[in-house]
Amino acid sequence: MTNRKYHWAIQVVPSMHPHAWRAHAGGYYAQACGRRKKSAVGYPAERFVAKSQRNPDWYCSDCARAACLALAKERAPKPDTHTDSDRYAVLRKLVEAYQSAKSYDDDVPLQALRDWSHR
Ligand SMILES: [Zn+2]
Repeated sequence: MTNRKYHWAIQVVPSMHPHAWRAHAGGYYAQACGRRKKSAVGYPAERFVAKSQRNPDWYCSDCARAACLALAKERAPKPDTHTDSDRYAVLRKLVEAYQSAKSYDDDVPLQALRDWSHR
């Protein structure tokens, strides 16, 4: 049986991966499927997924699945990283705009303040 599939190389912490190897450029890599190194390619996840879909016989299906998951994670919307102090800074600007409004008839700053929400 020939085993000439390409595997997906990912950067790892060597202590967690018994089959990790050291790359020439530095850093440790392992195959995403956890098997002993055969023919691993360090493509970005997107490229590995695209290539494995075109030639499923040539690419390790476990590695392809791992690359798919990594790709989905990359594309997932980023969580809101605003901290409370970021939000406070926004609120403070709104308050300042309200307090420095030229006239109480100008209710745009007040409206903005009313629309502010913590989350
Ligand atoms: Zn693999």
